[in-house]
Amino acid sequence: MIQAKGYGATSKDSEIVPLEFNRKSLGESDVLIDILYCGICHSDIHTARGEWGAAIYPVVPGHEIVGKVMQVGASVTKFKVGDIAGVGVFVDSCRTCNPCKKGMEQYCEEGMVPTYNGYYRDKLTLTYGGYSNCYVIDEKYTLHIPQKENLAGVAPLLCAGITTYSPLKFAGVGKGHKVAVLGLGGLGHMAVKFAASFGAEVTMLSTSPSKEADAKKLGAHHFALSTDPAQMKALKGKFDFILNTVAAKHDMNKFLDLLTLDGKMLIVGIPPEESAYNAAKLISKRRSIIGSMIGGIAETQEMLDYCAAHNIYSDIELISAQDINKAYERVINSDVKYRFVIDMKTL
Ligand code: NAP
Ligand code: ZN
Ligand code: ZN
Repeated sequence: MIQAKGYGATSKDSEIVPLEFNRKSLGESDVLIDILYCGICHSDIHTARGEWGAAIYPVVPGHEIVGKVMQVGASVTKFKVGDIAGVGVFVDSCRTCNPCKKGMEQYCEEGMVPTYNGYYRDKLTLTYGGYSNCYVIDEKYTLHIPQKENLAGVAPLLCAGITTYSPLKFAGVGKGHKVAVLGLGGLGHMAVKFAASFGAEVTMLSTSPSKEADAKKLGAHHFALSTDPAQMKALKGKFDFILNTVAAKHDMNKFLDLLTLDGKMLIVGIPPEESAYNAAKLISKRRSIIGSMIGGIAETQEMLDYCAAHNIYSDIELISAQDINKAYERVINSDVKYRFVIDMKTL
């Protein structure tokens, strides 16, 4: 076992506090990463607070990890000491089922091994996330980071980036499409950047009037306040796609109305409560709802390379580890610009 330190929750009601814990030892095909930066995803909050069901405490969250390779196992060939490496939302999968063989390990039939709050395939050893000094991971599930600078702005690509890139690619979003992004937080700001970069006409749908100027700076062509019935009415039937990133309970039907014939709502947000949809709103325009979860390892690498080639980074606020609780409150209050990233030097 490797002695590690970090920050995590000890119960669903606990604050995020300093912790010491044991990580799995370095295996033959593993790399040991010294973590430089880790983003704060809303999923960290849902999990630490038990909003998706009971977690396995203590939970050390964090799945937007960038760091430096410090040691490699005997059979490692893809990484060497000193390389900059990334870890995303999962760190292993069965490797033999159909989704795994097709490079969609996130949909593994046995369930992916999550970066935190889960068990390795031995079903005994717990995973702890990136609010920590180090991580041990199989090289097959480790990403190469091509960027040479702004590594703090790269960390959120490992979840917020791939989670929005993948459904936009799957849907074939590009020139000539009208795309709305629902919710301007961590995922939303990356969705705006990607959709605009792919050539679509992008509208930001937000509950926060104060975010209009930022939305346009991020690449949105239009901004509408989703709480204003008049603005929503004017957008009825306008969009080919809506990428829904909302993390809290909301009325999906209000937004289904904004889709055109054959329009698609791509859902990535996971509110703790179930959502209801009105069937008539789907059938009257052959609309559909599609869910999407992060992306596979190959697609995550493709996204990182795309971002490096197109100069796409996350817009972040760099914080010290001692400010994680304050950051959580701001994320919950939709006051995030547009991803908090922990500087692991402050651990
Ligand atoms: P976030 O930074 O908190 O952003 C969510 C945004 O949604 C908020 O900033 C806010 O934007 C909007 N919003 C919040 N409450 C709302 C409400 N009641 N009604 C309408 N809009 C509301 O969260 P995130 O890190 O981007 O994550 C978003 C969701 O995606 C979370 O549920 C997370 O767990 C999930 N997630 C899913 C995947 C996946 O693989 N599918 C991966 C990562 C995260 P405005 O101020 O603009 O309204
Ligand atoms: Zn995430
Ligand atoms: Zn599998």
